[in-house]
Amino acid sequence: MQPVADYIVVGAGSAGCIIAKRLADTGAAVLLIEAGRRDNTQLVRKPGMIGPLHSVPQLKRTVDWGHYTTPQAGALGRRIPQTHGKVVGGSSSINGMVFVRGNRHNFDDWAAEGNAGWSFTDVLPSFKRFESFEDGESNYRGGSGPIKVTRAKNLTPASQSFLEAFSATAGVKQLDDYNAESQEGVSLFQQSNAAGLRYSTAVGYLDDRGSNLTVLPKTQVVRVVIENGRATGVEVLSRHGREMIRANREVILSAGVFGSPQLLMLSGIGPADHLRGHGLDVLADLPVGENLHDHLFVPMTYAMPTGVHRPNPLYFGNAWVRERFRSGSTWLARSVFEVVAFVRTRQAGEIPDLQLHVLPWSYPAPNQDAPIRHKPDPRRALTVMSTLIYPKSRGTLRLASDDPTAAPLIDPNYLAEQSDVDVLVDGMELIRETMSATAICDGVQCEIAPGPGFPDRAALAREVRNRATTVYHPVGTCRMGVDERAVVDPALMVRGVDGLRVADASIMPSIVGGNTNAASMMIGERCAELITQAP
Ligand SMILES: Cc1cc2nc3c(=O)[nH]c(=O)nc-3n(C[C@H](O)[C@H](O)[C@H](O)COP(=O)(O)OP(=O)(O)OC[C@H]3O[C@@H](n4cnc5c(N)ncnc54)[C@H](O)[C@@H]3O)c2cc1C
Repeated sequence: MQPVADYIVVGAGSAGCIIAKRLADTGAAVLLIEAGRRDNTQLVRKPGMIGPLHSVPQLKRTVDWGHYTTPQAGALGRRIPQTHGKVVGGSSSINGMVFVRGNRHNFDDWAAEGNAGWSFTDVLPSFKRFESFEDGESNYRGGSGPIKVTRAKNLTPASQSFLEAFSATAGVKQLDDYNAESQEGVSLFQQSNAAGLRYSTAVGYLDDRGSNLTVLPKTQVVRVVIENGRATGVEVLSRHGREMIRANREVILSAGVFGSPQLLMLSGIGPADHLRGHGLDVLADLPVGENLHDHLFVPMTYAMPTGVHRPNPLYFGNAWVRERFRSGSTWLARSVFEVVAFVRTRQAGEIPDLQLHVLPWSYPAPNQDAPIRHKPDPRRALTVMSTLIYPKSRGTLRLASDDPTAAPLIDPNYLAEQSDVDVLVDGMELIRETMSATAICDGVQCEIAPGPGFPDRAALAREVRNRATTVYHPVGTCRMGVDERAVVDPALMVRGVDGLRVADASIMPSIVGGNTNAASMMIGERCAELITQAP
């Protein structure tokens, strides 16, 4: 007899953990299937461990799928790492924890395209439901959800002086809360951690769960079983081999921007010619895997003694020992990011099109493409990242083979559009202008990267293609919409198949203006509401 659940949720990531818990709270039997390992380790749960996690390849590969892009023509043919969580909690277990909802207009744009129920007013209750913000409940913020959100604390002097210098140079306000009424300005970063604990969705939603929610780690779903046009279960691969699991009610794919489209295609749902080319039967001819897009940043690093931190094993070991004795007492209790800004460049319309991420650490240069341990400059430093938040370039995700264990072909087509380069260079020039302002320049010893070898706009524009890298925010491969090019409808149902939804970052029609974890969690909450509140 095959194992059975009411709902099968594939992928225990930012969206998947939320959907599974909310459905289980209704009394349903829910099975949450995750390819990666459990998350019960300090590597994942201690916020400051993101430094070692991302810089030591042996650690990273225990929780990362290890994907790379195809060679990117717009980026000098580089193959850029596409780090993606393979662990309970998904990417929310390995991300930078900075907490940004996006601009309210992003959701109004989704609704204006016909996605009823996804305007900012519609999604605000879902954003509020999952968070517990340090200021408590308000019109804009949630005060009692499972994910704790706090502001950066004990700012290093370098970050503080950047905040002040940037406000004056760019002529923008210092904002108390960029996740409230308006985003434009410079602020302390908000983070999804508190008291030295990362608030991944695994921590927030799975640590305290009932017996009707079963989590199956180290189990990879290889296809959705579809019978007579309806999803009736999944086929999985685990150490016991292959087996089928049936779903009485629905299958929900939350396997992320790469995993969900890959699974749809392996199940016969995708571009017909592409599927036939891999010998797969076509059940639904849909543009799965199109519309892939992502945020990019270019880091600029300045030697600044007031940056305080030093990126070396001794400095890290010292904090580790102190943290063991008094949890929450060192920089390891927080994310490395301290300050954020949203501003409008020359290319912007009504809303900011440039984000700056600020961290008081030096950063590997010129890029981190090679799968080796990178050694950043050893000096105390401040890094400011010019970040493109509305890329115009669009790419694809395709199957490399019909073997479910083969990595998909990820081609974001980075920097294909010149305007994407222009925004990044505008940001770099603004950073340089800020770092030479009187409010900060006395504390700046030199520009470490990109450095004096790239003195003007033309040189920066050329070098962007060597240095730009992903912020790890890919979205859009199972686009939500009401048109013929959509993959899921506004109820997140796969068009033309019953009993099958997709709910994760892949459904975003267009990327939000800010880091994508909060919007992915909101999509998880919305999906659960759509299922439980259906007439
Ligand atoms: C390194 C990194 C840093 C980031 N930093 C930030 C940040 O600071 N702030 C922010 O807002 N956003 C950040 N992001 C982005 C954010 O974390 C993601 O947008 C978000 O987590 C996506 O959520 P998701 O539910 O779509 O997918 P995920 O959270 O990635 O979940 C997908 C899950 O599905 C599992 N899965 C995939 N295929 C299968 C299969 N076939 N069978 C079983 N399981 C499967 C995966 O292992 C994974 O656990 C970062 C991302 C990364 C990778």
